[in-house]
Amino acid sequence: MIKIAHPLIDDDDRKAVLEALGSGQLAQGPRVAAFERAFAGYIGVKHAVAVSSGTAALHVALLAHDVGPGDEVIVPACSFAATANAVLHAGARPVFVDVRDDDFGIDPAQAEAAITPDTRALIAVHLYGQPCAIDAIAALCARRDITLIEDAAQAAGAAMHGRRAGAFGTGCFSFYATKNLTTGEGGMITTDDDAIADAARMLRSQGERERYVTEALGYNFRMTEMAAALGASQLVKLDARNGVRRAHAARLSGLLAANRTLVVPRELPDRRHAWHQYTVRVRAGREARDALRAGLQARGVESAVFYPTPIHRQPLYRRLGYGELSMPVAERLAGEVLSLPVHPALSEADIDAVAAAVDALTA
Ligand SMILES: *Cc1c(COP(=O)(O)O)cnc(C)c1O
Repeated sequence: MIKIAHPLIDDDDRKAVLEALGSGQLAQGPRVAAFERAFAGYIGVKHAVAVSSGTAALHVALLAHDVGPGDEVIVPACSFAATANAVLHAGARPVFVDVRDDDFGIDPAQAEAAITPDTRALIAVHLYGQPCAIDAIAALCARRDITLIEDAAQAAGAAMHGRRAGAFGTGCFSFYATKNLTTGEGGMITTDDDAIADAARMLRSQGERERYVTEALGYNFRMTEMAAALGASQLVKLDARNGVRRAHAARLSGLLAANRTLVVPRELPDRRHAWHQYTVRVRAGREARDALRAGLQARGVESAVFYPTPIHRQPLYRRLGYGELSMPVAERLAGEVLSLPVHPALSEADIDAVAAAVDALTA
């Protein structure tokens, strides 16, 4: 089976984790601090604050910016539900905005139209690893005095105009097992703002700046030393592995160029795609997409749908009254998107097999 994702763990990773295990300190310590410094340097920001997941990163980032009850936070309708869930965790109200079908990111013009006097923040998602129109969105947020949070969970190493995803606003990363850089579970907040970094550090650890002095209702969202050791070891290889993803994506696009059933993904000008997912659109829609997925599975090629249901149509959000919203692009994409394997554990022969299976089923 050619899997849709496979974590790459090498001997350096194993050695780093074993060293952490033998160090006498398992909970957050010097390895977490070292991983934070390295990650901040990689993204090109002053601070990185490690947490236990990408969801925790989004939650803490919102709280660090003082987002809470009575506030509205603009989010794209097409993302992993954690993007909007974090807004609910913070006690604020998600306001859904439709996405664009070229980059799968939030539409800047529609985001601007959704701003009200209660809008405090906007979460821009770099879906599949391609930066959304983050330059336009950053300009909008600056002009309207709105906090910009980037959900860069899928975009470690992505960039626009040479600036890394996670460096435009307050960046939130996930190191879940399938992400381009993994610590098993884990996350990171990136920022140039001293006060936001300080608040995030306080909130991830029981609301304490000083041990046993509770200043705020914080959490235990700390990263372990083993996770940080793995993260630092993985970070060294991130660019090379993203390079393999890029080469696989280019090869797949070349092989599928003549296929009229599909729209293949494109890296837009001035953007550096991290190729977390290689996501095609099946023009004919949901039934054809699901049939292609089943056919690929039968031929030993795993694929995936990110995501089959837009967030506002999820049961939780229907109960909260969002179900009747119309987000035509997000709703159409949910029936068209199909992610094909391009992860760096695959060989060129695997990519050729993926393309051959797709062509056999759609030609
Ligand atoms: C993975 C992911 C998250 C959540 O990260 P976890 O580490 O699983 O909590 C949030 N948003 C997006 C877009 C993701 O892909």
